[in-house]
Amino acid sequence: MTLQTKLPNYSDPALHTAGLYIGGEWQPGDGIAVRDPSTGKVIGTVADASVEDARRAVDAAEAAAAGWRETPARQRSEILRRWFQLMTEHAEELALLISLENGKALPDARGEVAYAAEFFRWNAEEATRIGGEYRPTPSGSHRILVDHEPIGISLLITPWNFPAAMATRKIGPALAAGCTVILKPASETPLTAYAMARLGAEAGVPPGVVNVITTSKPAEITNTILQDPRVRKLSFTGSTGVGRTLLAEAAKSVVSCSMELGGNAPFLVFDDADLEAALDGAMIAKMRNAGEACTAANRFIVQAGIHDDFVAGLTKRMAALKVGRSYDAGTQCGPMITSNAVAKIDRLVRDAVAAGARVTTGGAPLEEDGYFYPPTVLENVPHEAAIAREEIFGPVAAVYKFESEDEAVRMANDTEYGLAAYLYTRDLKRAMRVGRRLETGMLGVNRGLMSDPAAPFGGVKQSGLGREGGVTGILEFMEPKYYAVEF
Ligand code: NAP
Repeated sequence: MTLQTKLPNYSDPALHTAGLYIGGEWQPGDGIAVRDPSTGKVIGTVADASVEDARRAVDAAEAAAAGWRETPARQRSEILRRWFQLMTEHAEELALLISLENGKALPDARGEVAYAAEFFRWNAEEATRIGGEYRPTPSGSHRILVDHEPIGISLLITPWNFPAAMATRKIGPALAAGCTVILKPASETPLTAYAMARLGAEAGVPPGVVNVITTSKPAEITNTILQDPRVRKLSFTGSTGVGRTLLAEAAKSVVSCSMELGGNAPFLVFDDADLEAALDGAMIAKMRNAGEACTAANRFIVQAGIHDDFVAGLTKRMAALKVGRSYDAGTQCGPMITSNAVAKIDRLVRDAVAAGARVTTGGAPLEEDGYFYPPTVLENVPHEAAIAREEIFGPVAAVYKFESEDEAVRMANDTEYGLAAYLYTRDLKRAMRVGRRLETGMLGVNRGLMSDPAAPFGGVKQSGLGREGGVTGILEFMEPKYYAVEF
């Protein structure tokens, strides 16, 4: 195991190693290989936690819990602020690491580091503003006093597509609330989580407050943690399928759950939209992270009068993108995370084409060592095609045509998901009218990007439970305690 006080030198793959981080100690191990999706080559290894390691992580979180919840909010806030500062100072190194293990183009990785660090700054501010309630009962019998307490030891499980931001979006509010945590990052992208843990220790996070474990047996390890009665919270970001399994597991010990799950975002373009603005927004909503985002526009639903111009403009922009190794200069679209991800996209595109869709650019995997799929546009996509129901999670824009507002709303809501939606129109009245009818947790109005630490992020239907960020995000890690006071 190599642990630098500085982040590693990325030209030397041998330096990309990390053990488990439990109770402020690094425990050597190298059971999980990490690959560079641009080449398919192994670039490092991390430890593979055992059930015993999982129990030790809970012990460490428990040992640190009382001290952390009693640490004054101002002090917790200052530690988070220092962590934000350190991430900002090391932004370029972290961006390279993310690009290397996740495959996102360097500009996207830089954007992620800035976004991720903001969750520490925002929650440093929120830590000092935790409120309560005090009011008389209507009958006058007594006073109601409500205090918010940290919920307790929290298990945080994160996906590979935003290895820094999905971790900070959970660690930030949990620490601000006074909870200690165990983070289990995705096995494709564990190096970023460990690099951030090092920065956290440097920022002054006490041993045991943040523990990080990686495993090749996620169900066994996380079930062990969830069944421990000392653990009171599960905050999960990932697919809806795994979310359902974890909800069932958490139900056994009635653990509080926050769930950020999959999406199938509609992107509505009305005839009166500003075409150039809609195309700019479409490129962001589709191509941020090469389409590997839960908020990615999955279905472009475009009104008949603007449809052909939109398809032509989108095709031109998608075809012009530079595909390449994620960290090479000028790359705008990097590889997918794995060869399986490419195979899934290929299956969805083939199925849509067989059902009658027409490819206007792209349309087949690239013959490269890495896991590449080119920017692709499909028009005339039938609603019955699998691509209309499943998350594409890749650089494929599927376009559908509509005539009336009612039809657009019906098409947009025709999914089990309800995370994000986008709407382009010059008519604000229409935007608000349609917005109220859309089954979604978030809506971009004439805007292709909605993520912001100061806003409540989350979905309805099978896209999740609870919200991260905003002024309510911290409450996901707190329990209200009601005192009935008579005097
Ligand atoms: P995933 O397969 O559900 O995995 C997410 C995390 O869960 C990983 O750490 C994974 O570990 C772990 N895991 C897998 N099976 C598990 C089990 N049986 N028990 C406990 N943990 C388990 O999702 P992904 O492929 O990493 O991420 C893509 C998905 O995340 C997409 O559906 C996307 O929409 C969603 N997402 C949602 C949001 C949001 O905010 N709503 C944000 C980002 C991504 P391993 O890596 O070891 O398998």
